[in-house]
Amino acid sequence: MLTEYPLLTTEQRTQWRQMLDGARHIVITAHRGPDGDAIGSTTALASWLRRNWDADVQVVVPNIFPDFLKWMPGAESILVYAGHESEVLPVVRQADLVIMCDHGELRRMWTLGDVVRDHPTPRIMIDHHLDPEPGIAELVVSHPELSSTCEVLMRLILELEAPAPAELSTVLTHDEAVSLYTGMMTDTGAFTYASSRPEIFQLISILLSCGIDKDKIYRNVFFTYSAQRMKFQGYMLYVKLDVWKKAHTALMTMTNAERRRFGILNGDTEGLVNMPLQILGTKLSIFLREDTEQPCIRVSLRSVDDFPANEMAAEFFGGGGHKNAAGGEIWGTMDEAVALVKKAVQKYMPLLKA
Ligand code: 5GP
Ligand code: MN
Repeated sequence: MLTEYPLLTTEQRTQWRQMLDGARHIVITAHRGPDGDAIGSTTALASWLRRNWDADVQVVVPNIFPDFLKWMPGAESILVYAGHESEVLPVVRQADLVIMCDHGELRRMWTLGDVVRDHPTPRIMIDHHLDPEPGIAELVVSHPELSSTCEVLMRLILELEAPAPAELSTVLTHDEAVSLYTGMMTDTGAFTYASSRPEIFQLISILLSCGIDKDKIYRNVFFTYSAQRMKFQGYMLYVKLDVWKKAHTALMTMTNAERRRFGILNGDTEGLVNMPLQILGTKLSIFLREDTEQPCIRVSLRSVDDFPANEMAAEFFGGGGHKNAAGGEIWGTMDEAVALVKKAVQKYMPLLKA
């Protein structure tokens, strides 16, 4: 009843066991710009592995993660690669197993991806993005039909531990349950998209019986605004929001000068791209922001129903993602980025107009 189908084949199960049994130093990684699902899946996996295997387990992420995820259990012991390369490099090089969570391409880890690529050690990938890079890992557990990597991981844990129905809530610790719930919640916009399969609510039911306080988790993640951030949001919606009625599309842009003016911190723009979808009839929302580390513009796309944001991201912005949430980047000025967005919207007009 709980899992509609096994995530692992019999051979993959054997492979999982062999890879884990042979490992003494496990490094768990996630994508650049780690989100709730990335931090949730890596911290839950690390904790579960530490309890079940005799190995040291370390989570390493490519760069810093937002303050609104710092409260998460296990977040305090995550190592950040960017800016701490000399301390973190030996940890990755010592690993005899690397488990990558929440992305299907090494390049989504940026420079940490290069380190992992060059390190001759077996890899496992646990993810829910479309089209994983061929050969990215020896064992690939990829399920794009599931809401989040946290959902993939929780189902994997339940499948491997196969508890009796009465014991379901004993498989995970309270903290692991908190991490897993956070990832599912953040990747589904608090269960407003990508979460209509009944099974996800069976999983949530188990997490609740592990004692999580889901309302507190919601507040920890979403009710953390500074006054500055609230005002910045007002500015973006009042001054910067452009609505193209015929195309059912909304665009917002943010420069680094605006970032400075409002004292915008890492993570403060999270969720902003979703807001224009609240305008009746909007099918696509686009958010462009100057990157703080590279001379490029980051693109975030959100859509509703069948509009393939991931296809637009792949075709125009060198990126990808999910059907309703995708992203990429544009190497150029903001003006050039806006011009490219206009071209993309024009190309997809038949789908947007309908
Ligand atoms: P966000 O807008 O939150 O940065 O990204 C939304 C989703 O788009 C991510 O969960 C990820 O699946 C995808 N995405 C964002 N940036 C990229 C990118 O550069 N490449 C690919 N392949 N996917 C991306
Ligand atoms: Mn995810």
